Amino acid sequence: MITREELRQLAQLDSPENSAVTFYFQPQTPQNKSHREEQIQVKDLVREALHRAEKNGNNPSVRADLKRILELAGQLHGNHARGKGVFAFSAKGIWREIDLPKRLKRTQLYVAHRFHLRPLAAVAASAPRCCVALIDRERARLYELWMDEVREQAGIVDLLPRTGRSSGPGGYDAGHIERHVENSAMRHFKNVAQRLQELQSGRGCDGFIVGCREDVWPQLEPHLHTYVKQKLLGRFGIDPAVATADQVREQAQRILEERNAAERQTLIREVVGGAQRNGRGKVGLRGVLEALEQGEVQTLLFGEAFYAPGSECGNCGHLDSNLVDTCPACGQGTRELEDLTDAILRRALDGNIAVVYIGPDPEFEKAGKIGALLRFRADQAKSGKVAG
Ligand SMILES: [Zn+2]
Repeated sequence: MITREELRQLAQLDSPENSAVTFYFQPQTPQNKSHREEQIQVKDLVREALHRAEKNGNNPSVRADLKRILELAGQLHGNHARGKGVFAFSAKGIWREIDLPKRLKRTQLYVAHRFHLRPLAAVAASAPRCCVALIDRERARLYELWMDEVREQAGIVDLLPRTGRSSGPGGYDAGHIERHVENSAMRHFKNVAQRLQELQSGRGCDGFIVGCREDVWPQLEPHLHTYVKQKLLGRFGIDPAVATADQVREQAQRILEERNAAERQTLIREVVGGAQRNGRGKVGLRGVLEALEQGEVQTLLFGEAFYAPGSECGNCGHLDSNLVDTCPACGQGTRELEDLTDAILRRALDGNIAVVYIGPDPEFEKAGKIGALLRFRADQAKSGKVAG
């Protein structure tokens, strides 16, 4: 698991001598590729990287890191449940391995002046840490879901009173027993609501998903705390008594994906529409870079297909979509970047700007593959008018 703060720290690293090594391992299913082929692929990647590094002058830090990655790759297998990201810069004592879900595009290796973080950031951004609660009238089973991993936590049991045969002992009538059972169920729902509230206020829960039978929900819902309700991402019908962990994961991921897709569509409409009417949106690289420099950006949208070379000023940090030798902002020398993505991402992480990744989307690609939702527009802030 990676936190936004860790991501920010990795993004800050800057190695003028090109010593930042990034490795992503995407396991192939054994049917696709044998373990041996996979090893050969990684070896080829490392050999090429070594070759390129040597062409740019002998660099012991890079050599050591690449060798270590080769060793690590020898232990990774295609049938691994997880992918992996490695961020290495041994000259500064950095070696960070992060387990990732098998959702990376492919196995990749980069040697550059900074870490290649887009795949990692994309994975982290699309996967909130969720609590999934399966609830019936006497039990709650609680799961933690992050990415592809689902873990059962300690649950809650408040067994309903056993009512025995027909009427109860000691002359209790049927109505009395029924009230007794109802009270017990209500206490149970209150206990569950209390536990969810505790999880809500603790660390590491971005949202709740509830699984229950349809008739249970109207009894449970009134007891849920406001904050828990605000973080409720969705609900699915299931019988908690017989549900399996795989079912829980499938249902919860379906809800998350539907929500993500809906949220992304809303964002795209807001940003593209806002850009068209000079409102709270900008699209295209030039516009987004300007907005970043003006401090206007609230949410940054990266299209999957976005890729753009440019220049970066080592002095003031100005990013330019043109290949310029001197910085238009401060007049100092710049360096050429093969792709501006990681530099932009770093700017976003530093500025506490939310980052959203947009999958294949014709409308967004036509608009420039990169966009920003703005908090304000600097050119309109003086007059106080901003179109919505
Ligand atoms: Zn500059």
